Amino acid sequence: MKNIRRLQIVSVLSIILTIIVVSCKEVVTYDLAITDVQVFDAYTGEVNTDKTILISGDEIAAIIDKNDGFKTRETIEGKGRLVSPGFIDTHIHFGDLYGDYDEAPEYLVSDSVELYQQKLSDTFLKYGTTTVAVMGQPEKWLEETIHWQKNAKADMPNVLVTGGAIISDEERPPYGGHVEVMNPEDARKLVRKYHEKGVKHIKLYWRLRLPEMEAAVDEAQTLGLNIFGHIDFNLVGIPAVMDLGVKHFEHVMTVSNDAFGMSQYYGQLNNLMEEHYPGIEAYFPYLLEQMQMVEDTPELRDKRDGLIQNMIEKEATLSTTIHLFGTVVKRTFFNSYITNYYADQNPDLNEAQLERLNKAFDTFMAYIKAAHDQGLKLRIGTDCKEGGQAALSEMLLLSEAGFPMSDILRIATLNGAEALQIDADSGSITAGKKADLILFKNNPFENSKALLDEKTVIKSGKVYN
Ligand SMILES: [Zn+2]
Repeated sequence: MKNIRRLQIVSVLSIILTIIVVSCKEVVTYDLAITDVQVFDAYTGEVNTDKTILISGDEIAAIIDKNDGFKTRETIEGKGRLVSPGFIDTHIHFGDLYGDYDEAPEYLVSDSVELYQQKLSDTFLKYGTTTVAVMGQPEKWLEETIHWQKNAKADMPNVLVTGGAIISDEERPPYGGHVEVMNPEDARKLVRKYHEKGVKHIKLYWRLRLPEMEAAVDEAQTLGLNIFGHIDFNLVGIPAVMDLGVKHFEHVMTVSNDAFGMSQYYGQLNNLMEEHYPGIEAYFPYLLEQMQMVEDTPELRDKRDGLIQNMIEKEATLSTTIHLFGTVVKRTFFNSYITNYYADQNPDLNEAQLERLNKAFDTFMAYIKAAHDQGLKLRIGTDCKEGGQAALSEMLLLSEAGFPMSDILRIATLNGAEALQIDADSGSITAGKKADLILFKNNPFENSKALLDEKTVIKSGKVYN
């Protein structure tokens, strides 16, 4: 008798509980639902079909089966189309957008702040890039842009900033986005200053000499800052900087440059340039020919490939920056203005020159592909004035070089998020992460050119127009 009563009480209680749970569930009304979509999983590279993405505020609340019930304020009908996370560009410069040197405004704080932010959205967000990392900027812009970093908005990409790119004392006046340190103690002070201002990432430039490099890295590590290095021309050398514990490196070309180093082959390369490019002093053709020489010279090629192995073992990451080279050899869907410094030196190349450089570009893409296949983590870093379009261009170039679309999307999303240490919030379509998404009109898995087609960009849970 007692047992029966207990059973009755238990069953009544469980009915009440069920009613509460069910009614609670029904109370949840999502802000936005993207129904019937294919969801790209950046972790596995797989595409999950017949899903619906539910969004609350600026977050992905759940990913459910397309036939499951839900309540929402707003709906986008996916009609079986693909959704990927928003793209992450890990290497941009505000100077490319707002002016370098003479044209640069002294401060970004003025009546024009909204115009600056609009420019950022027009350049990136429109094309699907929802997060950008600024790898060096004028120090006077830091105050305002740190504010952008701390206050994500639906109509602007997420912004992560460094201060100036750090260099050692040099003869010439430093570039707009660079900042000089006079000695190791000075380097430590600067890193501490940036940390106090709220900077989470610092950028070391290859003009930073070893004593200051060691001090800056050590101070940054002590403070828990994330370090990115454009280490080039073997001045300090990528292996030496990796030995200090730096993991993130800029521009794939630097691996080849590092192998070439200050080698005995400089004379040979200069002769080659004079022979094939008389009267032309162009930086990009020079770099491409250098890459080809590294490929054609067993000693240098082994050095390059050894460095790639070393980077893989140390779990290093590398930003791409391939669109600019693609522009030089006319392989991109649009042509970029090549950084103002070299613009007047970007000559019209003749057929024979273009043929040589296209071969070198293929060499470049082949060593990137080999590095990727062996496990080197790449991330998109356009370093380009037209960043959003350049990111798409880079993805197309990767596709032409034989990268599978799932790898390309991962390089453009999760790999960047992991390197920037924002993968708890970004880089994949996962419940709890920020709702920064791209709904493609046409499926890039079927044709990579679909990357260029119309897309609906969702930023912080809102459709960007
Ligand atoms: Zn750069």
